[in-house]
Amino acid sequence: MKVLVLGAGVIGVSAAYELAGAGHEVAVLERQPGAGLETSFANAGEVSPGYSAPWAGPGVPLKAIKWLAMHHRPLVIRPNLDWSMIRWSLAMLRNCTAARYRINKTRMVRLAEYSRDVLRDLRDETGIAYDQRTQGTLQLFRTQKQLDGVTEDTAVLDAYRVPYEVLDPTGCIDAAVTSGQRYDMGPITFEQTPKLGVEESRDDGRSWQYLADIPVAEEDQRESDWRIRMEDEPHVVELKDGKLVAMIRADPRDHTQSFLRQTESTDGGKTWSVTHKTSIYGYPPHLIRLRNDWLLVVYGVRREPFGERACLSKDGGKTWDIDHEITLRTAFSSDLGYPSSVQLDDGSILTVYYQSAQPGDKTSLLSTHWKLNEK
Ligand SMILES: Cc1cc2nc3c(=O)[nH]c(=O)nc-3n(C[C@H](O)[C@H](O)[C@H](O)COP(=O)(O)OP(=O)(O)OC[C@H]3O[C@@H](n4cnc5c(N)ncnc54)[C@H](O)[C@@H]3O)c2cc1C
Repeated sequence: MKVLVLGAGVIGVSAAYELAGAGHEVAVLERQPGAGLETSFANAGEVSPGYSAPWAGPGVPLKAIKWLAMHHRPLVIRPNLDWSMIRWSLAMLRNCTAARYRINKTRMVRLAEYSRDVLRDLRDETGIAYDQRTQGTLQLFRTQKQLDGVTEDTAVLDAYRVPYEVLDPTGCIDAAVTSGQRYDMGPITFEQTPKLGVEESRDDGRSWQYLADIPVAEEDQRESDWRIRMEDEPHVVELKDGKLVAMIRADPRDHTQSFLRQTESTDGGKTWSVTHKTSIYGYPPHLIRLRNDWLLVVYGVRREPFGERACLSKDGGKTWDIDHEITLRTAFSSDLGYPSSVQLDDGSILTVYYQSAQPGDKTSLLSTHWKLNEK
Protein backbone atom coordinates (compact mmCIF):
# COMPACT_ATOMS: atom_id res chain seq x y z
CA MET A 1 0.00 0.00 0.00
CA LYS A 2 1.15 3.57 -0.64
CA VAL A 3 0.99 5.68 2.52
CA LEU A 4 1.48 9.41 2.98
CA VAL A 5 2.30 10.51 6.52
CA LEU A 6 1.61 14.15 7.30
CA GLY A 7 4.14 15.63 9.70
CA ALA A 8 7.61 14.43 10.72
CA GLY A 9 7.26 14.78 14.49
CA VAL A 10 7.98 11.81 16.72
CA ILE A 11 4.58 10.31 15.93
CA GLY A 12 4.80 10.71 12.15
CA VAL A 13 8.37 9.44 11.93
CA SER A 14 7.66 6.41 14.16
CA ALA A 15 4.50 5.58 12.25
CA ALA A 16 6.38 5.85 8.93
CA TYR A 17 9.17 3.61 10.24
CA GLU A 18 6.73 0.90 11.36
CA LEU A 19 4.71 1.09 8.14
CA ALA A 20 7.86 0.86 5.98
CA GLY A 21 8.97 -2.11 8.13
CA ALA A 22 5.62 -3.76 7.40
CA GLY A 23 6.35 -3.48 3.67
CA HIS A 24 4.36 -0.39 2.74
CA GLU A 25 5.60 2.35 0.45
CA VAL A 26 5.76 5.39 2.71
CA ALA A 27 6.37 9.08 2.11
CA VAL A 28 6.51 11.69 4.89
CA LEU A 29 5.44 15.26 4.18
CA GLU A 30 6.79 17.94 6.48
CA ARG A 31 6.45 21.71 6.25
CA GLN A 32 9.60 22.37 8.26
CA PRO A 33 13.11 21.98 6.80
CA GLY A 34 13.79 18.92 9.02
CA ALA A 35 12.15 16.29 11.18
CA GLY A 36 11.11 16.88 14.79
CA LEU A 37 11.27 20.67 14.72
CA GLU A 38 7.91 21.46 16.32
CA THR A 39 6.39 19.94 19.48
CA SER A 40 8.83 17.03 19.37
CA PHE A 41 11.74 19.47 19.57
CA ALA A 42 13.34 19.91 23.00
CA ASN A 43 10.42 18.79 25.12
CA ALA A 44 11.07 17.62 28.67
CA GLY A 45 12.51 14.37 27.31
CA GLU A 46 10.79 12.12 29.82
CA VAL A 47 9.52 8.64 29.05
CA SER A 48 7.36 8.04 32.12
CA PRO A 49 4.60 5.55 31.35
CA GLY A 50 3.37 5.33 34.95
CA TYR A 51 3.16 9.09 35.16
CA SER A 52 0.99 9.55 32.08
CA ALA A 53 -2.34 11.05 33.03
CA PRO A 54 -5.01 12.98 31.17
CA TRP A 55 -5.02 16.75 31.44
CA ALA A 56 -8.77 16.57 31.90
CA GLY A 57 -9.38 15.75 35.56
CA PRO A 58 -11.37 16.85 38.60
CA GLY A 59 -10.43 20.39 39.64
CA VAL A 60 -8.67 21.17 36.34
CA PRO A 61 -11.19 23.80 35.08
CA LEU A 62 -10.68 25.81 38.28
CA LYS A 63 -6.91 25.34 38.08
CA ALA A 64 -6.96 26.43 34.43
CA ILE A 65 -8.65 29.70 35.39
CA LYS A 66 -5.93 30.32 38.02
CA TRP A 67 -3.18 29.42 35.49
CA LEU A 68 -4.53 31.96 33.04
CA ALA A 69 -3.97 34.69 35.63
CA MET A 70 -0.36 33.68 36.33
CA HIS A 71 2.59 35.69 35.05
CA HIS A 72 4.40 32.56 33.72
CA ARG A 73 1.26 30.69 32.79
CA PRO A 74 1.44 27.12 31.55
CA LEU A 75 -1.76 27.63 29.57
CA VAL A 76 -2.71 30.24 27.01
CA ILE A 77 -6.18 30.50 25.47
CA ARG A 78 -6.75 32.79 22.54
CA PRO A 79 -10.55 33.19 22.54
CA ASN A 80 -12.18 32.96 19.15
CA LEU A 81 -15.30 31.49 17.64
CA ASP A 82 -13.55 28.56 16.07
CA TRP A 83 -16.14 25.76 16.18
CA SER A 84 -13.58 22.96 16.51
CA MET A 85 -12.00 24.79 19.47
CA ILE A 86 -15.41 25.15 21.16
CA ARG A 87 -16.17 21.46 20.56
CA TRP A 88 -12.77 20.47 21.94
CA SER A 89 -13.27 22.65 25.07
CA LEU A 90 -16.69 21.09 25.76
CA ALA A 91 -15.27 17.59 25.37
CA MET A 92 -12.45 18.53 27.73
CA LEU A 93 -14.94 19.78 30.35
CA ARG A 94 -17.04 16.63 29.99
CA ASN A 95 -13.96 14.52 30.78
CA CYS A 96 -13.10 16.39 33.99
CA THR A 97 -15.17 14.13 36.26
CA ALA A 98 -13.53 11.58 38.56
CA ALA A 99 -15.17 8.69 36.70
CA ARG A 100 -14.00 9.86 33.23
CA TYR A 101 -10.53 10.63 34.61
CA ARG A 102 -10.24 7.06 35.92
CA ILE A 103 -11.26 5.54 32.59
CA ASN A 104 -8.94 7.82 30.60
CA LYS A 105 -5.99 7.33 32.94
CA THR A 106 -6.43 3.55 32.70
CA ARG A 107 -6.41 3.73 28.90
CA MET A 108 -3.37 6.01 28.88
CA VAL A 109 -1.32 3.87 31.24
CA ARG A 110 -2.03 0.76 29.17
CA LEU A 111 -1.05 2.55 25.99
CA ALA A 112 2.00 4.14 27.61
CA GLU A 113 3.27 0.80 28.95
CA TYR A 114 2.89 -0.68 25.48
CA SER A 115 4.65 2.33 23.92
CA ARG A 116 7.52 1.99 26.38
CA ASP A 117 8.02 -1.64 25.28
CA VAL A 118 7.86 -0.67 21.61
CA LEU A 119 10.43 2.07 22.22
CA ARG A 120 12.73 -0.44 23.93
CA ASP A 121 12.44 -2.81 20.94
CA LEU A 122 13.07 0.09 18.57
CA ARG A 123 16.23 1.04 20.47
CA ASP A 124 17.50 -2.55 20.36
CA GLU A 125 16.65 -2.90 16.70
CA THR A 126 18.17 0.36 15.46
CA GLY A 127 20.95 0.86 18.00
CA ILE A 128 19.80 4.46 18.50
CA ALA A 129 21.70 5.85 21.49
CA TYR A 130 20.89 8.95 23.49
CA ASP A 131 21.40 10.27 27.00
CA GLN A 132 19.05 8.27 29.11
CA ARG A 133 18.62 7.29 32.71
CA THR A 134 16.19 4.74 34.06
CA GLN A 135 15.95 5.78 37.69
CA GLY A 136 12.24 6.58 37.66
CA THR A 137 10.36 9.83 38.05
CA LEU A 138 10.06 11.72 41.30
CA GLN A 139 6.65 13.35 41.52
CA LEU A 140 6.40 16.03 44.23
CA PHE A 141 3.21 17.04 46.03
CA ARG A 142 3.18 20.35 47.84
CA THR A 143 0.28 19.69 50.19
CA GLN A 144 -1.08 16.72 52.11
CA LYS A 145 -4.37 17.20 50.27
CA GLN A 146 -2.65 16.69 46.93
CA LEU A 147 -0.90 13.59 48.25
CA ASP A 148 -4.18 12.19 49.61
CA GLY A 149 -5.78 12.76 46.22
CA VAL A 150 -3.27 10.51 44.48
CA THR A 151 -5.01 7.26 45.48
CA GLU A 152 -6.98 7.28 42.20
CA ASP A 153 -3.70 7.28 40.28
CA THR A 154 -2.00 4.66 42.42
CA ALA A 155 -5.05 2.37 42.05
CA VAL A 156 -4.47 2.40 38.28
CA LEU A 157 -0.75 1.74 38.78
CA ASP A 158 -1.62 -1.17 41.11
CA ALA A 159 -4.01 -2.58 38.52
CA TYR A 160 -1.28 -2.62 35.86
CA ARG A 161 1.52 -3.61 38.26
CA VAL A 162 3.48 -0.44 37.59
CA PRO A 163 6.00 -0.22 40.45
CA TYR A 164 5.95 2.94 42.59
CA GLU A 165 6.70 4.06 46.13
CA VAL A 166 5.13 6.80 48.26
CA LEU A 167 8.03 8.62 49.96
CA ASP A 168 8.30 11.01 52.89
CA PRO A 169 10.34 14.24 52.50
CA THR A 170 13.61 12.54 53.53
CA GLY A 171 12.87 9.69 51.15
CA CYS A 172 12.41 12.19 48.31
CA ILE A 173 15.79 13.77 49.01
CA ASP A 174 17.46 10.38 49.16
CA ALA A 175 15.79 9.28 45.94
CA ALA A 176 17.00 12.43 44.23
CA VAL A 177 20.54 12.18 45.53
CA THR A 178 21.24 8.46 45.91
CA SER A 179 19.14 5.39 46.08
CA GLY A 180 19.43 5.07 49.83
CA GLN A 181 21.22 6.29 52.90
CA ARG A 182 24.17 8.64 53.16
CA TYR A 183 27.48 7.12 54.17
CA ASP A 184 30.60 8.67 55.52
CA MET A 185 33.93 6.99 56.07
CA GLY A 186 36.99 8.18 57.80
CA PRO A 187 39.93 7.46 60.02
CA ILE A 188 39.10 7.53 63.72
CA THR A 189 40.94 6.80 66.92
CA PHE A 190 39.30 4.59 69.54
CA GLU A 191 41.30 4.19 72.72
CA GLN A 192 44.55 5.12 70.93
CA THR A 193 43.92 2.51 68.23
CA PRO A 194 43.68 4.11 64.83
CA LYS A 195 41.20 2.51 62.48
CA LEU A 196 38.96 3.19 59.53
CA GLY A 197 35.27 3.39 60.24
CA VAL A 198 31.93 3.94 58.53
CA GLU A 199 29.01 5.98 59.75
CA GLU A 200 25.52 6.01 58.34
CA SER A 201 22.80 8.66 58.34
CA ARG A 202 19.15 7.92 57.63
CA ASP A 203 17.91 11.46 58.20
CA ASP A 204 19.72 13.39 55.51
CA GLY A 205 22.86 13.92 57.57
CA ARG A 206 21.23 15.35 60.69
CA SER A 207 22.44 12.46 62.84
CA TRP A 208 24.96 9.69 62.31
CA GLN A 209 25.36 6.19 63.70
CA TYR A 210 28.57 4.19 63.74
CA LEU A 211 28.16 1.19 61.45
CA ALA A 212 31.36 -0.73 61.05
CA ASP A 213 35.14 -0.91 61.08
CA ILE A 214 36.93 -1.38 57.78
CA PRO A 215 39.37 -4.27 58.04
CA VAL A 216 42.77 -3.05 56.84
CA ALA A 217 44.98 -5.39 54.79
CA GLU A 218 47.60 -7.14 56.85
CA GLU A 219 50.44 -5.94 54.61
CA ASP A 220 49.44 -2.35 55.42
CA GLN A 221 49.16 -3.04 59.13
CA ARG A 222 52.68 -4.49 59.16
CA GLU A 223 54.17 -1.08 58.37
CA SER A 224 56.43 -0.37 61.33
CA ASP A 225 54.96 3.05 62.02
CA TRP A 226 51.44 2.38 60.90
CA ARG A 227 49.63 5.53 61.79
CA ILE A 228 46.32 7.02 61.11
CA ARG A 229 47.56 8.42 57.79
CA MET A 230 48.44 4.97 56.55
CA GLU A 231 44.98 4.56 55.03
CA ASP A 232 42.74 7.59 55.15
CA GLU A 233 40.80 10.18 53.12
CA PRO A 234 38.35 7.58 51.85
CA HIS A 235 35.42 8.17 49.56
CA VAL A 236 32.41 5.93 49.10
CA VAL A 237 29.89 5.54 46.31
CA GLU A 238 26.72 3.47 46.03
CA LEU A 239 26.11 1.35 42.93
CA LYS A 240 22.72 0.78 41.33
CA ASP A 241 22.35 -2.61 43.04
CA GLY A 242 23.07 -1.08 46.48
CA LYS A 243 26.67 -2.31 46.68
CA LEU A 244 29.03 0.22 48.28
CA VAL A 245 32.49 0.76 46.85
CA ALA A 246 35.05 2.83 48.74
CA MET A 247 38.51 3.94 47.74
CA ILE A 248 41.09 5.05 50.25
CA ARG A 249 44.30 7.00 50.18
CA ALA A 250 47.33 5.00 51.25
CA ASP A 251 50.45 6.70 52.52
CA PRO A 252 52.96 3.99 53.34
CA ARG A 253 56.52 4.91 54.24
CA ASP A 254 57.54 3.52 50.84
CA HIS A 255 55.91 6.10 48.60
CA THR A 256 56.25 3.90 45.53
CA GLN A 257 53.39 1.92 47.07
CA SER A 258 50.88 4.79 47.31
CA PHE A 259 48.31 2.98 45.21
CA LEU A 260 44.66 3.55 46.07
CA ARG A 261 43.17 0.91 48.35
CA GLN A 262 39.63 -0.35 47.87
CA THR A 263 36.95 -2.04 49.95
CA GLU A 264 33.37 -3.08 49.24
CA SER A 265 30.19 -3.78 51.17
CA THR A 266 27.22 -5.75 49.87
CA ASP A 267 25.07 -5.47 53.01
CA GLY A 268 24.48 -1.73 53.25
CA GLY A 269 27.76 -1.02 55.03
CA LYS A 270 27.44 -3.46 57.93
CA THR A 271 30.49 -5.46 56.84
CA TRP A 272 33.33 -4.60 54.49
CA SER A 273 35.91 -6.58 52.57
CA VAL A 274 39.55 -6.30 53.66
CA THR A 275 41.14 -3.32 51.92
CA HIS A 276 43.10 -4.28 48.83
CA LYS A 277 45.60 -2.47 46.67
CA THR A 278 44.37 -1.29 43.25
CA SER A 279 46.47 -0.58 40.19
CA ILE A 280 45.86 3.17 40.53
CA TYR A 281 48.73 5.27 41.82
CA GLY A 282 47.75 8.58 43.45
CA TYR A 283 45.57 10.15 46.12
CA PRO A 284 43.19 11.16 47.55
CA PRO A 285 40.37 9.53 45.58
CA HIS A 286 37.00 11.00 44.68
CA LEU A 287 34.46 8.58 43.25
CA ILE A 288 31.25 9.10 41.33
CA ARG A 289 28.85 6.77 39.57
CA LEU A 290 28.25 8.03 36.06
CA ARG A 291 24.89 7.95 34.33
CA ASN A 292 25.90 4.90 32.33
CA ASP A 293 26.77 3.20 35.65
CA TRP A 294 30.54 3.30 35.09
CA LEU A 295 32.57 4.38 38.10
CA LEU A 296 34.91 7.32 37.80
CA VAL A 297 37.71 7.97 40.26
CA VAL A 298 39.82 11.13 40.13
CA TYR A 299 43.02 11.64 42.12
CA GLY A 300 46.24 13.62 42.20
CA VAL A 301 49.58 12.08 41.24
CA ARG A 302 52.42 13.53 43.28
CA ARG A 303 55.29 11.77 41.53
CA GLU A 304 56.61 12.70 38.13
CA PRO A 305 54.94 13.24 35.76
CA PHE A 306 52.77 15.23 38.21
CA GLY A 307 49.11 15.77 37.44
CA GLU A 308 45.43 15.27 38.04
CA ARG A 309 44.27 11.93 36.67
CA ALA A 310 41.12 9.88 36.25
CA CYS A 311 40.40 6.20 35.83
CA LEU A 312 37.22 4.32 34.90
CA SER A 313 35.65 1.06 35.92
CA LYS A 314 32.96 -0.42 33.71
CA ASP A 315 32.14 -3.29 36.06
CA GLY A 316 31.28 -1.60 39.35
CA GLY A 317 34.87 -1.36 40.62
CA LYS A 318 35.88 -4.99 40.01
CA THR A 319 38.53 -3.85 37.53
CA TRP A 320 39.94 -0.42 36.67
CA ASP A 321 41.03 0.58 33.18
CA ILE A 322 44.47 1.79 34.21
CA ASP A 323 45.81 1.19 30.68
CA HIS A 324 43.61 4.07 29.60
CA GLU A 325 44.25 6.33 32.58
CA ILE A 326 43.15 9.86 31.74
CA THR A 327 45.35 12.89 32.44
CA LEU A 328 43.07 15.81 33.24
CA ARG A 329 45.91 18.29 33.70
CA THR A 330 49.67 18.03 34.09
CA ALA A 331 51.39 19.97 36.89
CA PHE A 332 54.74 21.55 37.71
CA SER A 333 55.17 20.27 41.24
CA SER A 334 53.71 17.78 43.68
CA ASP A 335 51.61 20.46 45.40
CA LEU A 336 48.32 19.41 43.84
CA GLY A 337 45.29 17.17 44.08
CA TYR A 338 42.08 16.79 46.07
CA PRO A 339 40.04 16.60 42.88
CA SER A 340 36.30 16.27 42.94
CA SER A 341 33.98 15.59 39.98
CA VAL A 342 30.37 16.05 39.05
CA GLN A 343 28.56 14.89 35.92
CA LEU A 344 26.58 17.73 34.34
CA ASP A 345 23.17 17.49 32.67
CA ASP A 346 24.72 17.21 29.20
CA GLY A 347 26.79 14.21 30.33
CA SER A 348 30.07 16.13 30.45
CA ILE A 349 32.17 16.07 33.62
CA LEU A 350 33.51 18.96 35.64
CA THR A 351 36.50 18.13 37.84
CA VAL A 352 37.78 20.73 40.30
CA TYR A 353 41.16 20.45 42.08
CA TYR A 354 44.01 22.56 43.39
CA GLN A 355 47.45 23.15 41.90
CA SER A 356 49.41 26.08 40.49
CA ALA A 357 48.38 27.28 37.05
CA GLN A 358 51.91 28.33 36.04
CA PRO A 359 55.37 27.46 37.43
CA GLY A 360 56.03 29.70 40.44
CA ASP A 361 52.38 30.68 40.88
CA LYS A 362 50.63 30.15 44.19
CA THR A 363 48.25 27.22 44.10
CA SER A 364 44.60 27.93 43.35
CA LEU A 365 41.43 26.08 42.50
CA LEU A 366 41.34 25.02 38.87
CA SER A 367 38.96 22.90 36.88
CA THR A 368 38.80 20.70 33.83
CA HIS A 369 35.54 20.40 31.92
CA TRP A 370 35.71 17.24 29.88
CA LYS A 371 33.76 14.57 28.05
CA LEU A 372 34.08 10.83 28.11
CA ASN A 373 34.33 8.67 25.07
CA GLU A 374 31.73 6.08 26.11
CA LYS A 375 32.64 3.54 23.42
C1 LIG B 1 6.75 21.77 26.77
C2 LIG B 1 6.45 20.33 26.41
C3 LIG B 1 7.06 19.33 27.14
C4 LIG B 1 6.76 18.00 26.83
N1 LIG B 1 7.40 17.01 27.52
C5 LIG B 1 7.18 15.72 27.21
C6 LIG B 1 7.88 14.67 27.87
O1 LIG B 1 8.72 14.89 28.73
N2 LIG B 1 7.61 13.39 27.55
C7 LIG B 1 6.68 13.08 26.57
O2 LIG B 1 6.48 11.90 26.29
N3 LIG B 1 6.01 14.07 25.91
C8 LIG B 1 6.24 15.36 26.21
N4 LIG B 1 5.57 16.34 25.55
C9 LIG B 1 4.60 15.94 24.53
C10 LIG B 1 5.31 15.52 23.25
O3 LIG B 1 6.35 16.42 22.94
C11 LIG B 1 4.29 15.51 22.13
O4 LIG B 1 3.21 14.67 22.49
C12 LIG B 1 4.90 14.98 20.84
O5 LIG B 1 6.07 15.66 20.48
C13 LIG B 1 3.87 15.10 19.72
O6 LIG B 1 4.46 14.61 18.56
P1 LIG B 1 3.74 14.76 17.18
O7 LIG B 1 4.57 14.05 16.18
O8 LIG B 1 2.31 14.34 17.32
O9 LIG B 1 3.66 16.33 16.92
P2 LIG B 1 4.77 17.34 16.37
O10 LIG B 1 6.12 17.04 16.94
O11 LIG B 1 4.26 18.70 16.60
O12 LIG B 1 4.81 16.98 14.86
C14 LIG B 1 3.84 17.42 13.96
C15 LIG B 1 4.57 17.79 12.70
O13 LIG B 1 3.62 18.04 11.69
C16 LIG B 1 4.09 19.10 10.88
N5 LIG B 1 2.93 19.68 10.22
C17 LIG B 1 1.82 20.23 10.77
N6 LIG B 1 0.97 20.64 9.81
C18 LIG B 1 1.55 20.31 8.63
C19 LIG B 1 1.15 20.47 7.29
N7 LIG B 1 -0.01 21.04 6.97
N8 LIG B 1 1.98 20.03 6.31
C20 LIG B 1 3.17 19.46 6.62
N9 LIG B 1 3.60 19.27 7.89
C21 LIG B 1 2.78 19.70 8.88
C22 LIG B 1 4.71 20.04 11.89
O14 LIG B 1 5.64 20.91 11.28
C23 LIG B 1 5.38 19.07 12.86
O15 LIG B 1 6.74 18.82 12.51
C24 LIG B 1 5.83 17.68 25.81
C25 LIG B 1 5.23 18.71 25.10
C26 LIG B 1 5.54 20.02 25.38
C27 LIG B 1 4.89 21.10 24.58
